[in-house]
Amino acid sequence: MDVEKVETDMIIIGAGPVGLFAVFEAGLLGLKCHLVDNLDRPGGQCTELYPEKPIYDIPSRPKVTGQELVDDLLKQSSPFKPVFHFCQQAEALKQLPNNNWQLVTSRGEVLEAPIIVLAAGAGSFVPKKPNYPDLEVFEDKSIDYAVHKMNKYEGKELVIVGGGDSALDWVLSLQPMAKKITLIHRREGFRATTDSESKFKELVALGKVDFIIGNITKLNGEDGQLGSVEVESAEGEIHQVVCDYLLPFLGLKVSLGPIAEWGLNLDRKHITVDTETFATDVEGIYAIGDVCTYPSKIKLILTGFYEAAVMCHASFKYAFPDRKMTTGYTTTNTAIQERLGV
Ligand SMILES: Cc1cc2nc3c(=O)[nH]c(=O)nc-3n(C[C@H](O)[C@H](O)[C@H](O)COP(=O)(O)OP(=O)(O)OC[C@H]3O[C@@H](n4cnc5c(N)ncnc54)[C@H](O)[C@@H]3O)c2cc1C
Repeated sequence: MDVEKVETDMIIIGAGPVGLFAVFEAGLLGLKCHLVDNLDRPGGQCTELYPEKPIYDIPSRPKVTGQELVDDLLKQSSPFKPVFHFCQQAEALKQLPNNNWQLVTSRGEVLEAPIIVLAAGAGSFVPKKPNYPDLEVFEDKSIDYAVHKMNKYEGKELVIVGGGDSALDWVLSLQPMAKKITLIHRREGFRATTDSESKFKELVALGKVDFIIGNITKLNGEDGQLGSVEVESAEGEIHQVVCDYLLPFLGLKVSLGPIAEWGLNLDRKHITVDTETFATDVEGIYAIGDVCTYPSKIKLILTGFYEAAVMCHASFKYAFPDRKMTTGYTTTNTAIQERLGV
């Protein structure tokens, strides 16, 4: 199979707040960016862990929620048309004879650029997996840990597992199109917003969604395709629930993953950088935000923003030594304003 190769100026691994601001800073210098993230949307920790919580220490924003901050960062970088490659991990990195870096993702996408930026936070968010017997037999074919395309579930019988926001939100979103949804959660209480919880309970009361308090004890099916799951309820009753797709939403864990194997200097799972440039010990590879470390490092969004600005200037000079760099104030520099489209 031919794989389409993407060539760009800067590949950013991680679309958290710091990766998103790097797009803006790179754009001011005329650099194009592609971003790779394991998650299915931008925002990193802000949107994954605390979308509705207010942040109080972003300069000039007395109070902004994680989601609002990310929405505004996306808006700010939109003139520079970043390209996102979601739902895939940055897996393998090698240097080409022309000194460019080639990155291959877990979905087999191939990206090439002279500049690699690790804005990978604490690492990839990976789903916590349940420990059902024969789980791996059904994974990929009929067990999904994230919803990539909703229409896949149209007219299907779904079993969703979990009691947090993701589980309840997907019950609510998929209910109108699925043939049937059963939610399985090990206890009666939920860890979700009161709004999602009350909408879910309404659907259960109307008989539109089934809810079992209990645990899955067996997966039944053939050739990786599920037919049903066996559930033991809290009262010890055994239910056979018909199931085309099983969707466990049990939370996420964080791991630095393949990046830790790329031969970069690490200090307790963080990448050491030169604070003049935010370069790692390998030419052309930079690290900013929570993933990088240096003696005075403060792990905050605002420090990541500063690191992004310094890194963009330094990496431009490294990768494009013959190009004139447009620097200046956004208030007064007309070349920069043209790039911004203002
Ligand atoms: C509850 C909570 C409250 C917080 N409150 C504040 C606050 O008030 N003020 C503040 O300044 N900071 C706060 N923080 C910290 C702040 O969220 C982080 O400093 C910030 O998110 C770091 O941004 P980042 O872009 O470096 O990394 P992240 O936000 O962690 O994003 C990194 C992204 O990289 C992706 N990724 C990693 N490895 C790979 C890979 N190999 N392939 C593909 N994708 C990959 C991840 O999926 C993730 O989306 C808080 C954190 C938490 C948990």
